[in-house]
Amino acid sequence: MCNLKTSLVGKAEKYREDCIDFMRDLIRIPGVSCKEKEVAERIVKEMKHLKYDKVWIDDYGNVIGQIGHGPVRIVFDSHIDTVDIGNRDSWSYDPYLGKLEDGYIYGRGASDNHNGTVPQVYGAALFRDLGEQLDKVTIFVVGSVQEEDCDGLGLQYALEHSIKNVDFVCMGEATDLKVYRGHRGRMEINVVAKGISCHGSAPERGKNAIYRMSKLINEIEKLNTTLQDDLFLGKGTCAVTHISCETPSLCAVPDLCRIHIDRRLTHGEDKDLAVKQIENLPSFDRENMKVEILRYNAPSHTGKVLETEKYFPTWVLQEEHPLVQAGKRSAEQALGRAPEIGRWVFSTNGVFSMGRLKIPTIGFGPATEEDAHSTRDRVKVDDLITALAFYAKLPIEVSR
Ligand SMILES: [Zn+2]
Repeated sequence: MCNLKTSLVGKAEKYREDCIDFMRDLIRIPGVSCKEKEVAERIVKEMKHLKYDKVWIDDYGNVIGQIGHGPVRIVFDSHIDTVDIGNRDSWSYDPYLGKLEDGYIYGRGASDNHNGTVPQVYGAALFRDLGEQLDKVTIFVVGSVQEEDCDGLGLQYALEHSIKNVDFVCMGEATDLKVYRGHRGRMEINVVAKGISCHGSAPERGKNAIYRMSKLINEIEKLNTTLQDDLFLGKGTCAVTHISCETPSLCAVPDLCRIHIDRRLTHGEDKDLAVKQIENLPSFDRENMKVEILRYNAPSHTGKVLETEKYFPTWVLQEEHPLVQAGKRSAEQALGRAPEIGRWVFSTNGVFSMGRLKIPTIGFGPATEEDAHSTRDRVKVDDLITALAFYAKLPIEVSR
């Protein structure tokens, strides 16, 4: 195994300096959701430099690079948008500089998700350099947009309109070099309660929408403790995360109250179940209350709108599945040891590829979930190279 590792990682090493430069460049281009145009163009430039067979930006704004022309079609996906930096003062360094220190690259997006883009772009190139089965496999390296705002949406467009007939997906989201095969789903729910407004000096004349809702809120808190658990994915959860009301005046009884619920869905839980659970609570008043699933309709950087409901299904790929096994063998060769198999705590584009389209999906990436979206946003350079080796091997292992 050690020899295998040495030869594969040895070949990946030739791209070390290029990967560092590419990574730092990506960090230097701010690209929050819906504003990824320049990041996409920078990736196009790198793919063209690496002589990809085909490179394009699709109508929705995803970057796609193709290598090979075989019947087995595999997508390497990483999203190219990042979250914002928040308060600049809480950073001890410039989040848009790409600081390189003690073997790590720091900056916004370093662990979410440029950490995936860089080894995937170079991994596909190394696969080709190794002289491997270009007639057996087609690799599509996808830099998907708007994941931070609406998981799965950019990849959805790529899989339904730009590529099609994809057999496998591997995402570059942070796994700390473990092979991941699922995560809990989630949905964004509003509950709206109507009331009857009246003068605040005589509240008995009306029906206070806040009072109606407050009973339901107590029951939602209890509902959270009774939700299903799963050995692999963990427990389903619900939390009220926002409350607002509409009232004609601060001296009037409010006639509308709205709460927002963050619902995480474990194995066996779906949209219909989650909605029914709220509607079946004792204080849910069908005449005066309704449950709504939020919708997303922000235009992409190309101006295209794909309206969708904010329901992101749970997904798990069984450990025995050939893709997980191929991921395991590829990781073993890149790491020189057997990899751990696990699942994410956060949500990814897998909600669409596997959650909706049922395309077998796994993930492998350098960096840790804990560093994502934090001011410690970083990736270890050595781990970028290990991941690069993994991505050069995976197409060979899946097409066996
Ligand atoms: Zn991410």
